[in-house]
Amino acid sequence: MPRDYYEILGVSRSATDAELKKAYRQLAMQCHPDRNPADKRAEERFKEVSEAYAVLSDPEKRAHFDRFGTVGPGGGFTDTGFGTLFEDIFENFFSGGAGGSRRSRAARGEDLQYELKIALEEAAAGVETKIQIPRLESCDACGGTGVEPGSRLEMCDLCRGRGEVRRTHGFLTVAQPCSKCQGAGQLNRHPCARCRGEGRQRSERLLSVKIPAGIEDGMQLRLSGEGSGGVNGGPPGDLYVLVRIREHEIFVREGADLYCDLPVGFAQLTLGAEVQVPVLNGTAELRIPPGSQPNQILKLKGKGLPRLRQRGHGDHGYRLILEVPQKLNAKQREALLAYEAASRGEHGPLAQAFLERMKKLFG
Ligand SMILES: [Zn+2]
Ligand SMILES: [Zn+2]
Repeated sequence: MPRDYYEILGVSRSATDAELKKAYRQLAMQCHPDRNPADKRAEERFKEVSEAYAVLSDPEKRAHFDRFGTVGPGGGFTDTGFGTLFEDIFENFFSGGAGGSRRSRAARGEDLQYELKIALEEAAAGVETKIQIPRLESCDACGGTGVEPGSRLEMCDLCRGRGEVRRTHGFLTVAQPCSKCQGAGQLNRHPCARCRGEGRQRSERLLSVKIPAGIEDGMQLRLSGEGSGGVNGGPPGDLYVLVRIREHEIFVREGADLYCDLPVGFAQLTLGAEVQVPVLNGTAELRIPPGSQPNQILKLKGKGLPRLRQRGHGDHGYRLILEVPQKLNAKQREALLAYEAASRGEHGPLAQAFLERMKKLFG
């Protein structure tokens, strides 16, 4: 079923060109993809409306459609000649060309990002620090207008303040933003000397940043309104502080838990021991129970990092790394030989299981 283009635009069959154009603009504005991001239905509607207008605004195509109810040879919207014309019209819609409304000079300032490196100890305790931010700020001399104090903006003589210039494009008159004033409708003939008419000036600002205890590497803090200043009364952007945590000499972090390798001797593992271990900002006592195994992880509860925006702390884990002596003095040698002699015929559970498996295999 061919669609009724009049119905799509909501106009009568006798609609004039001006009525068509008005209806089309209104509908296209409503369902333009820029105004309805990620809305499939609006996008479909937008295409439909655009196609209807493409056909009905062309006298030849409209006559064909009126007579046969179809688009006829050459198609409607796919016609390349039309494609560019419609892009032209749209550019005008959204840059303020439609209805002669002027493009606002005000604009929001840019968002900025600052990378802040902190130590693991600082991440654990939380820290308040100062950062130096280079940014554009509203000009003191002109108050952000970009106009030299005592002067004012003048009406653009090319577009007479309308911000747009009309250009005839076949049977359609297309409005384009004025090239002299960039659509503002006003000219700045006396730019501010301090900011060269930009309304903003470079500045370095010392800001205080509060890093919450337990923050993790790669998290961002948003400082609302601390980005670049707005243009001509526009609001400022935001500042994002990206927190990077420097690698620690000893500790590895996993969420709120900390880990480190702890070298120990055979006798400490066998007999058990109390050892001094490093924790963040100091040392603590760690009890190695008798019979501990190499690579076993022992934990000190609550000695890790504070949990971000939660109560309590993570744990501190110590991986027992067995260090075998590479040299022995006479006394040590004697003691070990005595130990070996005393242990003859005794096997631990691992050795026992291994021996049994060997027996099964070889009889
Ligand atoms: Zn102008
Ligand atoms: Zn200025």
